[in-house]
Amino acid sequence: MNTTSPIRTDVAFRVENASYYYGSNLAVRDVFMDVPESKITSLIGPSGCGKSTVLRCFNRLNDLISGAHVKGKITYRGVDLYDKSVDATELRRRIGMVFQKPNPFPKSIYENIAFGARINGYRGDMDALVERSLRGAALWEEVKDKLKESGLSLSGGQQQRLCIARAIAIEPEVLLMDEPCSALDPISTLRIEELMQELKSNYTIIIVTHNMQQAARVSDMTAFFNAQATEAGGKQGYLVEFAPTQTIFNNPAQQATQDYVSGRFG
Ligand code: ADP
Repeated sequence: MNTTSPIRTDVAFRVENASYYYGSNLAVRDVFMDVPESKITSLIGPSGCGKSTVLRCFNRLNDLISGAHVKGKITYRGVDLYDKSVDATELRRRIGMVFQKPNPFPKSIYENIAFGARINGYRGDMDALVERSLRGAALWEEVKDKLKESGLSLSGGQQQRLCIARAIAIEPEVLLMDEPCSALDPISTLRIEELMQELKSNYTIIIVTHNMQQAARVSDMTAFFNAQATEAGGKQGYLVEFAPTQTIFNNPAQQATQDYVSGRFG
């Protein structure tokens, strides 16, 4: 297999020369990426290089941060994400987010799924939706006899799968995951990684991870970001290389990528 050839597939997100700002502070620059549909793309790089910033812009979560804005172009399925006609709330329904720390609602396991679905206007059979979502997140067998118990009574790994179930209950097209395993033990981490492999046939997944082995294990494409010191004493992130994961880990084009994946810095 020629590992240097790009994976041929449909493009979900196209990022063209994007720069990400907080006020006048340029946090991340020079981002070009074609994120494929129904694949897992990971964003890696040292802390502060802008991975979460880039991730949050895929569903315009950065809009909620005062002063945050993007220059350049980001399209989703050909539509400019920042076009005036795009409804950010509807966009976030289609492009769901799973956060670093599992954050179930302080409600029953059942309501954790049903609540969001109801708010999003779901009118179908709620019991069936709850079961389908919990099965989809590989949690059903563990919780089917205690659906009325609090979501907060579950273990960390189960809570994270509950959050994934909650996200998929509203039938998104994309799942953004910001270090979804960093608060979990190794067994729960493996469970989530297996789940991601199962989910990718139905969803485009983009994951930020600090864990290079995780990126190598789970993802099809990898974007490596780095940061440089600014004159003002801050940091500025930039995309170094975006390529099939095999290439990034075995035969990267840039020396900085090679140094990072072989553990020489970061
Ligand atoms: P990473 O996820 O790679 O650790 P981040 O995206 O969190 O990087 O941060 C990239 C840069 O953007 C950092 O310099 C950080 O200080 C800045 N930044 C992140 N979030 C905010 C924010 N809410 N307000 C201002 N600056 C921020």
